[in-house]
Amino acid sequence: MPKDPTIVMIEGRRCLQCEYKWVPRGEGRPALCPKCKSLRWDKPKREPK
Ligand SMILES: [Zn+2]
Repeated sequence: MPKDPTIVMIEGRRCLQCEYKWVPRGEGRPALCPKCKSLRWDKPKREPK
């Protein structure tokens, strides 16, 4: 079985808004980024054009 990169992401989370990395406690998706408090920390920041 090839390594699934999404499995690695479970160990540590990275906020796509501020690039902060942390290890969440418990299971499931963290509600918000502990640094910038963004609820959309897992969504890439879109640059308005
Ligand atoms: Zn953040």
